[in-house]
Amino acid sequence: MPYQTNSGGFERASRLGHATATVRALAERASFHVPAEHIADTAWLADRIRPRSDLPVPDRTVDLRSALAIDGSHVVQSIRDGMPSVVYGYAQAAAAYVDLSTMESQRARRFVDPVAIAQAVTTALVSLDLPVAGAYARAGIGIHTSWRELLDRLFRAKKVQVNRLDQSLLDLLMLLHGTPDNPAVTVPVNCPHPGCTTSDVPIPVPVGGTACPCCDGRLWPTDTLRIHEAVSEEGTNEEALGRLRSVVELLVLVGLTTLLWQQSRGDLLPSTLFIMDGPLAMYGEPAKLRGRAETYFQAMTTSTPGAGPYLCGLEKSGAMVDYARQLVRHNVIGVGDLLVCDADVIARIANTANPTRYGKETYWGRKFIYCAKDGRVVVPTVMPAAGAAYDTHGGQPGPDGYPTLPAILDVIDRTGSSMYRDGVIPVAAAHGKAAFPIGVGTDVLRLVARKKLGLDGQPDTTATP
Ligand SMILES: [Zn+2]
Repeated sequence: MPYQTNSGGFERASRLGHATATVRALAERASFHVPAEHIADTAWLADRIRPRSDLPVPDRTVDLRSALAIDGSHVVQSIRDGMPSVVYGYAQAAAAYVDLSTMESQRARRFVDPVAIAQAVTTALVSLDLPVAGAYARAGIGIHTSWRELLDRLFRAKKVQVNRLDQSLLDLLMLLHGTPDNPAVTVPVNCPHPGCTTSDVPIPVPVGGTACPCCDGRLWPTDTLRIHEAVSEEGTNEEALGRLRSVVELLVLVGLTTLLWQQSRGDLLPSTLFIMDGPLAMYGEPAKLRGRAETYFQAMTTSTPGAGPYLCGLEKSGAMVDYARQLVRHNVIGVGDLLVCDADVIARIANTANPTRYGKETYWGRKFIYCAKDGRVVVPTVMPAAGAAYDTHGGQPGPDGYPTLPAILDVIDRTGSSMYRDGVIPVAAAHGKAAFPIGVGTDVLRLVARKKLGLDGQPDTTATP
């Protein structure tokens, strides 16, 4: 936690410089275990490494030439002079259309177009803002109730508006709890009212909300997210806002995939790669959405020709990435190698004696470690066609069970480092000709179809934000 200045801002680097040095000095004298520093004995990994050439050849009828990349950000800020506890928050999810073949041809040229970056960053497909701490929806309520009321309001008001997909976040939440062609009528809510004796039994809550049958307290469908449980009266509640942001990112993915599933299931959907910035995961209080996402997208797989939809998360930091980089540095895995991360690998990386617990509450895709053609190491998360990626029996380590994996690795090889260096969208947008930020009113189908049909070079009349 940074020090706070008198004006309510945060004091950062300069005064903390000596503190950083002190902590480093303390750490140097301490004894602890860092898994990524202990990879000397790697013989046991050998039979978990598969050259990409050993994997099934990507279905040649699959032509992943377009990608839709989804990325989010959030920020909290003190907004009252002299009252640093009054904090306002902003969260957004942005999406970009990425032309993979243009990116492929441009990957050697590492130019940066600041205008394109600025455009991508400011073109949010959905944005939310709300008082997050020290300020309330109305007088006389605590911070939990305030967040609950505001989330209900925001989820009804905020829409993902692309093409004929004109759906509110609440519509998309109901969709995620149902199937691609049949949104759920209710979502399960544990009564959040203090002292309510039914709080362990989920109550079905319809779109309009309902009264708790036990305590008569008001229940809203967004209560199913349990984000209010992450909120406290003290602090900035930045973590809760981060949870909200990750939910919104997932709902944008639901919206864009369902749009293509409904309107071009046999053509544009199976030729588009959907990329999430970060792993396919849901952390913390809304983690139950993990299982919903798995069920929803697997239902989409069942009803889509071929192996699609093609979904992947690209992770760029964390223990797995650190470990993967060490493996490459020590030549344990080489160019074109895929490391299957089974229970033994997870036990080593997560430093746990109980690796079967890893991931089953969090991830709806499985992590792999891959060393791309250009030598860069990637940690993609990929969804299994059926069943859980992780469960108490070790889940499905792969590569069997992941029919989309070969085509996804192929895209990673073709686009090289440009795809995942420092976050998906800014880098994609840096290749100005390869990316187009998706905003309100964008015709996503047309963006994808233009490439598919080879209409490049013709003016795009839909490209005005
Ligand atoms: Zn109740």
